[in-house]
Amino acid sequence: MSRVIGIDLGTTNSCVAILEAGEPTVIHNQEGGRTTPSMVSWNGDGEVIVGAASKRQMVTNPTRTIFGAKRLIGRKVSDPDVQRVLPLLPYTVVAARNGDAWISIDDEARSPQEVSAHVLAKMRRVAEDYVGETITEAVITVPAYFDDVQRQATKDAGAIAGLTVRAIINEPTAAALSYGVQNKGDQRVAVFDLGGGTFDISILAIENGVFEVLSTSGDTTLGGDDFDRALILMLADEFQASHDVDLRGDAVALQRLKEAAEQAKIELSSSMNTDVNLPFIAIGPGGPIHLMRTLSRGELERACRELIERLAAPCATALELARCTPADIDQVLLVGGMTRMPAVQDRVIEIFGKPAHKGVNPDESVAMGAAVHSGVIGGELQEVVLLDVTPHDLGVKVAGDRMSVIIKTNTSIPTRESKVFATTEDNQTFVAIEVYQGAHAQASKNRRLGRFVLGDLRPGPRGATRVEVAFSLDADGILHVEATEVGTGRAASVTIEAASGLSADEVLRLGEGLR
Ligand code: ADP
Ligand code: MG
Repeated sequence: MSRVIGIDLGTTNSCVAILEAGEPTVIHNQEGGRTTPSMVSWNGDGEVIVGAASKRQMVTNPTRTIFGAKRLIGRKVSDPDVQRVLPLLPYTVVAARNGDAWISIDDEARSPQEVSAHVLAKMRRVAEDYVGETITEAVITVPAYFDDVQRQATKDAGAIAGLTVRAIINEPTAAALSYGVQNKGDQRVAVFDLGGGTFDISILAIENGVFEVLSTSGDTTLGGDDFDRALILMLADEFQASHDVDLRGDAVALQRLKEAAEQAKIELSSSMNTDVNLPFIAIGPGGPIHLMRTLSRGELERACRELIERLAAPCATALELARCTPADIDQVLLVGGMTRMPAVQDRVIEIFGKPAHKGVNPDESVAMGAAVHSGVIGGELQEVVLLDVTPHDLGVKVAGDRMSVIIKTNTSIPTRESKVFATTEDNQTFVAIEVYQGAHAQASKNRRLGRFVLGDLRPGPRGATRVEVAFSLDADGILHVEATEVGTGRAASVTIEAASGLSADEVLRLGEGLR
């Protein structure tokens, strides 16, 4: 049996772990790092560079260096979350045929799935070098807020990288798993994950080795990138005020500024002051201009105050959904590089009334949890059971554009729920089932996942013909929808999967190109 690896496919950094003698072990990449930048670049000759090497050449190759593909995967260009990040991306995002956000490199449009596949393939090679055998199976983690389309797109990225994705699990669930196998005993934990692109907060109950996600909430537009951006804006505004040059207008200068801002932010987690040093950042009428200044932790915190404020509301929502108060939470687990920022940790204390647990590594616990889960599905670890919840209402559109919810948000998965609907017209010969996801009462305001038709219905007066619509959500969060005519048993079904935007053929073709 081939071994299953656990991959944390992060917006910013990825990490791979494997179960060894029942223990999750993080694997070093070829460069010696325990995490790998989720960055992919194409050089002029069409050669693909992944990870730290890609990050290093970003300043000189900004339009062909792709970072943050996870913010685009399974989304439309029109998605407000995509629109929000577009202005500051040095590479070009284009709309695919179906409106999906793709990336144009040297006039060739590439899907975020393909870009992510290069990162996954790198993680796969890292693991193969370590174990000395071919790896074809993986458990991959995604943010709790990823919808069906994004999960499916992530699975496709795995397939392109030659990996059969045995399961997609939520990142906070994975973090709790890696904590829970070492810290036995019944308890409630909050997983507070602030990474490069997203903020996720989950409340879990651990009872007799069973992990149950009680609630999830978060903000898909809040992460370390936003902290960097706040600092970039502050520095660029300041520079413009004193030199009348807008650094935002120059891709290379902006890239250098971004790197310096992130570096300063990271240093200010352990020091009170740091230097930002960018010689020759611009040319003015009087010659070259340098950006050099000392930045204090207080200045960083002031620039990011609004972002830190935004951490509280999703926590309150998650507590409320889980019917908990902060006092009910036994442990807070910090995940994601941004939780190293002291102001973030202070905010955690304010929100939960206690400091966070010190024993989990914020960069590695998600991948380790994915490796633990690979042991759960492989039968190696039998005492751990995993329950998860769906983060969205799922339903169908009914007369008057109303959303009829079939699976409610926060339902434990896997699950199967059904509802019976009646025809609305006399002698109706078919019904079109339109599947939507979201909390709005008006179906068309929600995200449309797919449509299919159940035909050849028995003719009859309206209301007499009834159709049962059943939704099953598997443990990966992939939705299967089935409609059955009550009485005749005539059925039609659809698996919401092609919605990732790539056809099976495209996945195959891209996969061949990658090997
Ligand atoms: P993701 O899950 O999105 O891949 P990570 O968990 O790797 O992200 O977190 C990446 C973010 O954490 C980046 O914005 C990075 O700048 C930030 N980060 C990493 N180390 C530190 C640190 N010591 N202090 C503050 N921020 C940090
Ligand atoms: Mg992460």
